[in-house]
Amino acid sequence: MTNENKENLDYDVIIVGAGPAGLCAGLYAGRGMLKAVIIERGLPGGELLNTERIEDFIGFESILGRDLAQKMTDHAKKFGAQIVTDTVYTIEKLNGGDFEVTTALGKKYHAPAVILTAGGTPVKLNVPGEKELAGKGVSYCAVCDGAFFRDETIAVVGGGDAAAEEADYLTKYAAKVYIVHRRDELRASQILQNRVFSNPKIEVIWNKVVEAIEGEGPGVSGLRLKDTLNGDISTLPVTGVFVFIGFRPNSDLIKGHFDHDEQGYVKTDWQMRTSIEGLWAAGDLRVQLTRQITTAVGDGTTAAISVEKFLSERKDRVGTSAA
Ligand code: NAP
Repeated sequence: MTNENKENLDYDVIIVGAGPAGLCAGLYAGRGMLKAVIIERGLPGGELLNTERIEDFIGFESILGRDLAQKMTDHAKKFGAQIVTDTVYTIEKLNGGDFEVTTALGKKYHAPAVILTAGGTPVKLNVPGEKELAGKGVSYCAVCDGAFFRDETIAVVGGGDAAAEEADYLTKYAAKVYIVHRRDELRASQILQNRVFSNPKIEVIWNKVVEAIEGEGPGVSGLRLKDTLNGDISTLPVTGVFVFIGFRPNSDLIKGHFDHDEQGYVKTDWQMRTSIEGLWAAGDLRVQLTRQITTAVGDGTTAAISVEKFLSERKDRVGTSAA
């Protein structure tokens, strides 16, 4: 069903995703008097909502992820950003040069510019038991599911910032948290490593990969591990496993060819422009050194200002200062 006849879905810019990059792009688009819409499938906030406490967003020594998400949302709305709840299916550049963004609700949004800030989806281990036990002891979100594991022994898989940060967070609930990592050193930043090594409830299991997640009754009973050095197989008894082995960028929404790296992260220039004219990318799904909240909001800022310059040159925008 389409209802574009009833609604005017023509915008200056369509922002896909309402994480920090998308909300900040919305704020700057609003300040630039552009007619902007942010389309988000869940609650605004993106990864902020999967993070308990944030301590590295400058100006906020410590703030709950959900509180920062609310502040960013309110701030973007204050400058006129319209946020709609819907799932984007495709972003396609039409022959006329404008973009058509189609959604799960059957809507077709049109604009000469799109900023893609759709982040990523957690990478799966792809081992036996993972799919079957998802939501029954296998989780990808500590904030969402940590409280279910009060006084239990659980495992976190991965060695990056997310694994280190979330393992520390999970010790609020769990009696013991194993970090299972495939190498003999963590990739996580030094401050997060220090937190891991000084937490008596955390034990790191080095040089092991998960071969299978085993279940008994309704939930997880253990992990079958393989030693990466000598191939030995062992079993780690745990009742829950949190997988933090990276993100896969949600760049497959783009129809047509665009420049990307081998993992699908979108390549941009210094203005966040992709190889498709009129399409910008900002935040976690673009190729960059690191993926922080600070870098995401910087990307969103740059993208929105670049869009404004692009539209000013075209002189055909529909926002209020277009005359
Ligand atoms: P990441 O930095 O890519 O780390 C992924 C970890 O998982 C690595 O340790 C990797 O091992 C391991 N891994 C990957 N595939 C695996 C597999 N199949 N089996 C077992 N282990 C596997 O991902 P992330 O931790 O999700 O972080 C993503 C980005 O967000 C990063 O840029 C990070 O800095 C940022 N982030 C920042 C914060 C913060 O600063 N507070 C918090 C969360 C995330 P190897 O080390 O051997 O490659």
